[in-house]
Amino acid sequence: MPVFPTNEEVTLEGTAVSPGLAFAPAHIIARGIQAPEIYEISANHIESEIKRVHCALEKTRQQISKLQKHIEEISDAADGQIFEAHIMLLSDTSLIKKVEKAIKERLQNAEFSFYAIIQNYAEAIRRVNDPYLAERAADIDDIAQRVLRNFSTSDSSQVEEDGPDHSHIVIAHDITPSDTVSMDRRQSLGFATEQGSPNSHTAILARSLGIPAVVGLQGLIIEIQALSNTILDGYAGKLIINPKPSTVAYYKDIERRKKEEEIELDKLRDDKTSTIDGRDITLSANVEFNHEFPLVESSGAAGIGLFRTEFYLLGQGEIPAEETQYQVYAEAARCTFPHQAIIRTLDAGGDKLPAEPLPEPEPNPFLGWRGIRVSLSRRGMFKEQLRAILRASAHGRLGVMFPLVSAIGEIMIAKSILHECMVELDKEGLAYDPNIEVGVMIEVPSAAIMADELAKEVDFFSIGTNDLIQYTVAVDRVNKHVSDLYKPTNPAVIRLIKRTIDAANANGIWTGVCGEMASDLALTPLLIGLGVDEMSVGTHQLPRIKQAIRSISHAQCAALADEALSMRFSSDILQLTQ
Ligand code: PEP
Ligand code: MG
Repeated sequence: MPVFPTNEEVTLEGTAVSPGLAFAPAHIIARGIQAPEIYEISANHIESEIKRVHCALEKTRQQISKLQKHIEEISDAADGQIFEAHIMLLSDTSLIKKVEKAIKERLQNAEFSFYAIIQNYAEAIRRVNDPYLAERAADIDDIAQRVLRNFSTSDSSQVEEDGPDHSHIVIAHDITPSDTVSMDRRQSLGFATEQGSPNSHTAILARSLGIPAVVGLQGLIIEIQALSNTILDGYAGKLIINPKPSTVAYYKDIERRKKEEEIELDKLRDDKTSTIDGRDITLSANVEFNHEFPLVESSGAAGIGLFRTEFYLLGQGEIPAEETQYQVYAEAARCTFPHQAIIRTLDAGGDKLPAEPLPEPEPNPFLGWRGIRVSLSRRGMFKEQLRAILRASAHGRLGVMFPLVSAIGEIMIAKSILHECMVELDKEGLAYDPNIEVGVMIEVPSAAIMADELAKEVDFFSIGTNDLIQYTVAVDRVNKHVSDLYKPTNPAVIRLIKRTIDAANANGIWTGVCGEMASDLALTPLLIGLGVDEMSVGTHQLPRIKQAIRSISHAQCAALADEALSMRFSSDILQLTQ
């Protein structure tokens, strides 16, 4: 099994998606097979660990033979043949030798050594582009899982010297948004993946949770030995395995300088966000979890520009009741007052969790049952959220906005349901703000094109550039193979943003940007020049954006935006912004 040499420093390059540094041992999670505990063993436990491998394999062989006999009894002999390959794999001497060697050389426990070797087998097969072989990889996963269950810990005599509850850097083929949410922040100091892109919800969540992250690693993670010392560089997008003392010192110095920089930025916290020639910008925060509410004020934000409620609503098994939601939204209102907190209604689907289990996978989730479409087809659930938001509006300054609107009819129905909730609350004598601002996210080209009509229906626009880019250019925001085409500076995107802002201005409403484009320092002058009134960004990036806005002139930004609007190529606009 190829493994990076244990004493040599190796650097894997990737894309930085969440800033920060982490120093910790590697915790490798393969795809398909659930990772067992990993710990180091001492040399005098090698033999007992090897014995545990043999016992687990034997136990599995016996179980499979029994299963095979049972199938042959109730069906016919040929059906039992499918287990032959499983039994052969369990008796494969080259596999067993490799596991024994891994235990001896890496001094890691039996089940993890077995896992490391078998997942390598499965991965090698998976990487051959052949549907028949892909199925065999699933068989290997299945048998491996069975063997792992058969490792009994009771007969193990080893002492855990470095148990699983130590700090680590998660290294995986891919990580879903829900894996990211459930990461234990005290133990998982960062993550690096082979897949992924900066605009996926996994990356967005990593930023909001403050977990350093690197995606699109060039190099096979299965070659990394578990528990190797690593440094994750979430600034430059690197994973350094077995770093030399001089490399560690270099990164410790960067860490120190970043802390000093943060102390400097913190001094701007209470300052206004205006350009040097006096244009005020509302700089607000994107949040995904209620535990982030206190960070809004401490980051210097003027309220919340986007509360992505789906992680709160879908992250706990079942959607919280109206009363529980009301408490959370009221907390947002209180924490941000006198500023506004904009609650976005559920945006399920796409790469996020579905609102409910789907009968079959969607062929194109990003073009499917997502955003407002889900809410409008689950009226009861939608009304509970709207009632909770309305009731919470009595405790501060709330706004409500709807995601993925692609037609005026949708916003009209959403508004009529909101009105229905207001009438109900009036009857029940429950307080709410009747003037709560209602907004629409502009994240589908059809909405941007119809912005002049939509503007007549709402109090504000919030441009969701993450989706607006993917739908305008037809580039999946999480697919790394087309990530070169995913460009915020695409002229069509810039023109749609301009069109949206012009429509808002003509109708006397304001426009914000809450997509990741607003967090990109290089694009701040362009957005200001295009005329945005509000920008909503993650709390970690917010002080830097504030500093940037305070150092630029609106007049110069407007000239830059005019020039960008006359350009035909993304690369030219990109160059203009650098
Ligand atoms: C966006 O699309 O830009 C946005 C802010 O929404 P989300 O990233 O949650 O889809
Ligand atoms: Mg979106």
